[in-house]
Amino acid sequence: MADELLSRLFLTALPGFRLDRVLVEDAIVVTASSVHQESPCPLCGTFSSRVHSQYGRHLADLPSGGRAVMLNLTVRRFVCAQPQCSRRIFCERFAYGPSPYARRTERACRLVQHLSVILGGNAGAQLALKLPLPVSASTVLRSALALTVTPAPVPEVIGVDDFALRRCQVYGTVIVDLAQGKPIELLPDRSAETLAAWLKQQPQIKIISRDRSMEYEKGVRMGAPNAQQVLDRWHVIKNFREALERQLGRDRQTILAVCQARVPVPQCPAPRARNFGMRRASWPAWSSSTKSGRCRSPATANEPSPGG
Ligand SMILES: [Zn+2]
Repeated sequence: MADELLSRLFLTALPGFRLDRVLVEDAIVVTASSVHQESPCPLCGTFSSRVHSQYGRHLADLPSGGRAVMLNLTVRRFVCAQPQCSRRIFCERFAYGPSPYARRTERACRLVQHLSVILGGNAGAQLALKLPLPVSASTVLRSALALTVTPAPVPEVIGVDDFALRRCQVYGTVIVDLAQGKPIELLPDRSAETLAAWLKQQPQIKIISRDRSMEYEKGVRMGAPNAQQVLDRWHVIKNFREALERQLGRDRQTILAVCQARVPVPQCPAPRARNFGMRRASWPAWSSSTKSGRCRSPATANEPSPGG
């Protein structure tokens, strides 16, 4: 039972291995060996069960309980069963195990890659040492370089706007993929020539949203003459507001005259009587009946009670 739990804990990433021993000291040392009787030759693919020799491989795994975990794997060398094969002896291969030259398990490599992306080389190595998963800064950087970066989707609808590198002095241009909602490029200035040079490298762009800058308008005409230029929403609203202000400014005198004119208030019909007088007239009777313990509505205060 205990071995099964330990196998689940330490050998999850190594399905072809059985647990031989677990030694807990400053670090946790897990010894395991392969359960397979044969292995395929990496050159000709022929399976062989003829063991030539064996050796130990050491893999760092994810730390556990504040201790580093080291997997000591017993790996065999086989003699190729194909006489014509030039590879006489080959090392055991694992379908789901570590690659031949790996020094860490797959999940430990993923952790180092996360550290490399978030922290970089030196900081990533220092944090890894605290975990503890000792690794050098250069290894952290190599793991970042080994990451496969998914190519970004080709943008067809972009937005162009300026941003301040130094306010009121130096401005650049930011280009946003509007389909993804992500910035994809920063240009060092906001000139038409720079924007046109970038657009010429992106012939697939169909729609360009921009502000009212004449430089951008010129840059789009130079770099992507077939793309459709549209005004972004903020400037559409700004244009509308300015047009409305101009119109209201022209008609200001008329609007003031209308506002200051005395518009006759239509005569409303007299409000309908709501029996307030009768209430006031019958109040003494109702009050006296309340005091006598008989709660009757004012409207029926003068009427005889059912019992009287
Ligand atoms: Zn072979």
